[in-house]
Amino acid sequence: MCAFLRRDVQSVWQQHELKDRLNTYQEIFKENKLPRYKLARLFYVSFQNDSNLEELLEIHEQTHPKFKEWINQKQSYTIQDLEKEVSIEHSLDEIQKLNFLRLKWIIFDKMIESCTFCENKCGVNRKSSQLGKCKIDDKAYVTSSFIHMGEEAPVSPSGTIFFYGCTMRCSFCQNWDISQEYDFNIIKGKRVRSTELASLYYTLLKQGARNINFVGGDPTPNMHVIIESLLHAQVNLPMLWNSNMFLSENSMKLISDIFDIWLPDIKYSNNECAKKYSKVSNYWDAISRNMSFIEQRGSGEYIIRHLVMPEHTKCCSIPILDWINENLKTPLTNIMGQYHPDYRILRGENPEINRRPSTLEMFDVRKHADDLGLYWKSVS
Ligand code: SF4
Repeated sequence: MCAFLRRDVQSVWQQHELKDRLNTYQEIFKENKLPRYKLARLFYVSFQNDSNLEELLEIHEQTHPKFKEWINQKQSYTIQDLEKEVSIEHSLDEIQKLNFLRLKWIIFDKMIESCTFCENKCGVNRKSSQLGKCKIDDKAYVTSSFIHMGEEAPVSPSGTIFFYGCTMRCSFCQNWDISQEYDFNIIKGKRVRSTELASLYYTLLKQGARNINFVGGDPTPNMHVIIESLLHAQVNLPMLWNSNMFLSENSMKLISDIFDIWLPDIKYSNNECAKKYSKVSNYWDAISRNMSFIEQRGSGEYIIRHLVMPEHTKCCSIPILDWINENLKTPLTNIMGQYHPDYRILRGENPEINRRPSTLEMFDVRKHADDLGLYWKSVS
């Protein structure tokens, strides 16, 4: 019912450029195709749980191209037909123990002991309650979940789940109370187990969700529990990764082929601005690599978000649009103008960005997108 509150969530699909770019996503929420996580759960892989991390990663990388090909062949099957077909070679009980999704979860469960989920690569053992930059231990914590009608038209209404924690430390963060400055002792009451998350997906589906949207803060520190929840999930909904995309190369390899649609947030076009405002290193190297992974290894269906910041159109916004135009095949770009001073900016940090972007700055960025022929208006 809530879909009717915004007319554009229906009308946007009349635009061919958008329909072509998000075709599989749309087919999944119409239940004409299977979500990728369900395919990964039925893809048999032989591995030993007690193998070391490097061995398991190697098996994962050998399996990825076969799985990618298999998705192309089988995504239009019904789950019943697919189960029938895969059970010719291995029983469903056997596949339940040894499948591609389970392999991914086991790898994350080992990675967390010297955590490299994101590009910060803190190396802490989160299972021993050591905390890295994100300040999240080995559990997952949800702050809220609801049907979000304010996301981009093609992905609304969205079954959005906000997780605590973030892998970046932006001085202007507008979600700082859940991403950076929370009392870890208090949020422990918000812990969710993987089976509870799987039930939540079903609740959101019944409330009208077109997708399950993992966001935060940033969802990356909670990755292991999210992947484990997909081993239990039953919903035929696209899974949406809504993130700063500051994942490590291994994390990105592991999740690139199981999320159906992506909302990557590209803030800066260089490492220096990222270091100054978000306190991270190797930002652009990680983001440009991870964006390429979405296209080369994953669904290739995504809407990039770029928040235009004051004084950063020449060093960041314009080069980002140029990079998108030169490097990505099917970009949809949301050029966002809602930046406002918040959090540490209001306490005096980075005074040069203590204002909204001007009309002229927004105009320059949007005009540049038009000059390049980028597709942005209907998702902005
Ligand atoms: S998720 Fe990232 S920030 Fe958090 S402990 Fe792991 S490597 Fe560090």
